[in-house]
Amino acid sequence: MAKLAPSHLLQTPLSSKPTSLPRLSSTLTLLDDLGHLGELKTLSSVKAVHAQMIKMSNNNKMDIKAKSLATCYLEFGDSRSAAMAFFVGSAHYLPWSPFLEEFRRYGNDPEDVLKFFLEFHNRGVVFDSRVLGFVLKLCGNLKELWLGLEMHAYLIKKGFDLDVYLNCALINFYGTCLGIESSNQLFDEMHKKEDMLWDEVIKLNSKKGRWVKVLELFSNMQLSFAKPNSATIINALQACGKVRALNEGKQIHGYVLRWGLESNLSICNSLISMYSRNDRLELAKAVFDSMNDHNLSSWNSIISSYTALGCLNDAWIVYYEMELSDVKPDIVTWNCLLSGHSLHGSYQEVLAILKRMQDAGFKPNSSSITSVLQAVSELCLLKHGKEIHAFVIRNGLDYDVYVGTSLVDMYVKNNCLSFAQSVFDNMKNKNIFAWNCLISGYSFEGLFEDAEQLLNSMSQEGIKPDLVTWNGLILGYAMKGRHKEAIAAIHRMKSSGLTPNVVSWTALISGCSQNENHAESLKYFLQMQEDGIRANFATISSLLKACAGLSLLRKGEEIHCHSIRKGFIEDVFVATALVDMYSKAGNFRSAYEVFRMIKNRTLASWNCMIMGFATYGSAKEAISLFNEMRGAGLQPDAITFTALLSGCKNSGLVDEGWKFFDSMSTDYNIAPTIEHFSCMVDILARAGYLDEAWDFIQTMPLKPDASIWGAFLASCLTHKNLEFAETAAKNLFELEPHNPANYVLMMNLYSISNRWVDVERLKDLMRKVGVKHSPVWSWTQIDQKIHMFCAEGKPHPDLGEIYFELYHLVSEMKKLGYEPDISCVHQNIDAVEKKKMLLSHTEKLAITYGLMKMKNGEPIRVVNNTRVCSDCHTAAKYISVVRKCEIFLKDGTRFHHFREGKCTCNDCW
Ligand SMILES: [Zn+2]
Ligand SMILES: [Zn+2]
Repeated sequence: MAKLAPSHLLQTPLSSKPTSLPRLSSTLTLLDDLGHLGELKTLSSVKAVHAQMIKMSNNNKMDIKAKSLATCYLEFGDSRSAAMAFFVGSAHYLPWSPFLEEFRRYGNDPEDVLKFFLEFHNRGVVFDSRVLGFVLKLCGNLKELWLGLEMHAYLIKKGFDLDVYLNCALINFYGTCLGIESSNQLFDEMHKKEDMLWDEVIKLNSKKGRWVKVLELFSNMQLSFAKPNSATIINALQACGKVRALNEGKQIHGYVLRWGLESNLSICNSLISMYSRNDRLELAKAVFDSMNDHNLSSWNSIISSYTALGCLNDAWIVYYEMELSDVKPDIVTWNCLLSGHSLHGSYQEVLAILKRMQDAGFKPNSSSITSVLQAVSELCLLKHGKEIHAFVIRNGLDYDVYVGTSLVDMYVKNNCLSFAQSVFDNMKNKNIFAWNCLISGYSFEGLFEDAEQLLNSMSQEGIKPDLVTWNGLILGYAMKGRHKEAIAAIHRMKSSGLTPNVVSWTALISGCSQNENHAESLKYFLQMQEDGIRANFATISSLLKACAGLSLLRKGEEIHCHSIRKGFIEDVFVATALVDMYSKAGNFRSAYEVFRMIKNRTLASWNCMIMGFATYGSAKEAISLFNEMRGAGLQPDAITFTALLSGCKNSGLVDEGWKFFDSMSTDYNIAPTIEHFSCMVDILARAGYLDEAWDFIQTMPLKPDASIWGAFLASCLTHKNLEFAETAAKNLFELEPHNPANYVLMMNLYSISNRWVDVERLKDLMRKVGVKHSPVWSWTQIDQKIHMFCAEGKPHPDLGEIYFELYHLVSEMKKLGYEPDISCVHQNIDAVEKKKMLLSHTEKLAITYGLMKMKNGEPIRVVNNTRVCSDCHTAAKYISVVRKCEIFLKDGTRFHHFREGKCTCNDCW
C-alpha cells in the first residue's frame, strides 16, 4: 500500500456525533452463552453473532470473545471487519501487538489498519484514548510521521483530554519518528508527569542506548517522588552497568532494599549484571547468594559475570551448583561458558565445552558457533573449522551475519583466502567486520591488488571504510616493506575524512623497523608527533628497535626517559626492547639495570639479556643467567640456544659449546637449526679445530648454507689455511655470488700469502660477476650529530685536523710498541704506502674524531659496517692506554669494548 496522504486525513473531528454507525465501544457486549465462535462456518454467521453481541450489551468476558471475533473475521479474509471488531470491540482490554501479529499472519498489510481507522473515523466513529494511543504507536512503527503529527495537532486543538496513555503513546511516536531528543523535549514540556510517563521515557532512552540520560531521568524521577516500575529499575541498573556508574548502581540497590523489591528475580538478576559490569564480582555473588530463589536467568547472570571477567574456574563451580539445583542449564548457559573461554584464551577448553554441550543434547546456535570459530581460528585448526562450516551450512546458520563474519575470519587466520572469499561472496548481509577481515587478510598476504579492489567495492556498496579497514591495509603494506604505499594509505585515509590513530602510525613505524628501515621508522615517528598522536607501548617498542638497529644510544636514552615519564617502562615488551636497544647500542650496564628491574620477565626478556652478554663476549655471565632462568622455571627455546652458542663462539668456549649443542635436542627436545650448526662451525674453526669443523660440516643433516661456509672461511683466514679456505670460497661464490665480503676475505688471505696473481684473478671475477663494493663506513655521534666517515664520497670537513691528531697518536702509540700490521692491506704496493692506507681506515678516523670532541672521559662509541681489521683492533687497544679512555666499537659482526689495552672479544672476532 502506498504511503497515506500527508494532510487532511482527519476530515471529521474525532469527537463529532456518529452519523451512520452507533457508538459501538459502549454498546458492544455479548452474552455468556453465545456459543463457540470457533465453530462458525461462514462469514455471514460471524457477522450475525457480531450483530447479536452488539445488541445484547453485557460487559462479561468481552475481550476474550472480541479477540476470537477479530480472528474469525481474519480467517474469512475480512480484514476490515476484523479491524472494526478490534477498534470498537474491546480495545480497552485487548493488547494491540498480538492483534497486529494476527493481522499480519493472515497476510494483511498493517498499514491497512491505519486505512480502516481513517475510514471509520471519517464516518464518525468516536474512539477512546486507548485506540488513539494504539494508532499513534502504529504510526510510529510504520513511520507515518504526518498522520501522527496531525493526530497530535488535532488532539491539542480539540482540547482532547490527553490522559497518561495518550501521552505515553505520543512520547513513543515522537521517539520513533523524530528521534529521542524530540521525545525527551516533549516529556520535559508535559506538566503532569505520571509514573507511567517516566517509565515510558526511560524505556525509550534505554532502547536508544542513552545510558547517561537514563540515569539522569531516573534520578529526577526519584526527586519528584514518582515510583518506577520494575522495568524502569532494570533499565537504570543496565545503564549503571553500561557506563560503569557503580555508585549510582549501589544507590539503586539501596532503593530496591528500601522498597522490599529484592524478591523480584529480574531486578536481582540485573543487580548481578550491574555489579559484574563494574568489575565487582564479590558484590554480584553476594546478591546472588542473598536471593531466596534462583531462576534460569539468575544462574545465567552469575555464570556470565564470572566468564566475562575471566574467572573461569568460579564459573564452573557455579555451573555445577546449578546442575544440582532444580534449574537446568540452557543454551544461554552453555554460550556463556563458550564465549568466556574463547574471550580469555582458553581455546582448547572451548572445543571440549562444545562437545559436552552437544552430549547434553543442545544444538549449537549462531552465538555458540561464533565463539567456537574464534577458538578454532586462534588454534589454527583448519580441519575443525571446515567441519564447523559444514555444520553451519547443514543447519542454515550461514545467514547469520556474525557466523558468516567469524567464518571469514577463521579462513583468513588459517591462510585460506579463497575459502574466506567464497564465504564472503555468499554472505547475504555483509557488515563492515566481514569487509575488514577480508581486506586485512589479502593485505597481510601481500595481495594488495585484491585488497585495494575490495576497498573500492566496499565504498561502491555504500559502506564507508573505517579506521580498522585502513589500518589493516597500512599494516600489510608496512609489514611487506612497502612503506611508501603505507604512508600513501595514511594520506588517503586523511583525505577520506578519517584521522589516522596511534595504531595506523605504529603499523607504519613497526613495519619499517621490522624491515630494517630504521631511519624511516624514526622519520615517521616525527610525523606522527606532528599530527599530535601520542605513542603507545607498541610504538615505543618499535622505536627502540629502530634505535637498536641504528645503534642510536642517545635517541634510545631519550625514549627510555619518555617511557619512565609515561609509565611505559612497566610494560614488559617496552622493557625488553630497552634491554635489546642498550645491549645493541653498546651500553651494557644500562641493559643489565633495566633487565634487573623487569618484574614479570618473559622468555624474550631473558633471551635478550643472554644475547646481550653473548655479543659482549661475556659467555660465563650468559651461562649463569641461563641457569638463573632455568631456576625461575622457564623453558628455553631455539633463540636461547642461539644466544648461548654465540656466547661460546665469541668467548672461545669449545667444550661448553658442544655441551649446549648436545643438550638442545636431548634435554629440551629442540631440533638444531642452521643457525645453531653455523655457531658450532664457528666455535670449532675459530678455536683452530679446522679439521673437526670440516668433518662437522660434512656430516651435518642440513645442507650447509652461506652462513656455515662464511664462518668457516673467516676462521681459515685467521688460521691461514689456504686449502680449506679455497673450498669454502668456492661454495660461497656459488651460494652468494654478489656478496663482496667473501671476495674480500679471500683476497686478504691471498695477499697475506703474497699470491698477488690470485688477488688479481679475484678482482677480475668480481668485475665479471658484477659484484659491487659496498661502501665501507664508520660513524660516531657527537652531541646530537652523527659524523660519518666513508671510504668513498664526501670527506669529513674536519679531515685535516683529524689526520694531524692521528699522526700524533700513532707516534705516541709506537713508543709503547705499536707496529702497523701491513698484512691487513691486500694490495700489491710497498710497505710505506700500505702504512698510509692503514691510517685511512674509517674506524681509526672515527675514533680519533671522538677523542678530539668527547669531554670528561666519556666513552667513545663507533659503529662500523664491516669486520674490523686486525690493525685497527690493535690500534684501538693502544689508544685506550695512551689516552686512558674506553672505546666501544660495534663492527659488522660483534661488539668490542677496549679498555686498558684489552678488548672484551679476547682478540677473537
Ligand atoms: Zn682497519
Ligand atoms: Zn675486539
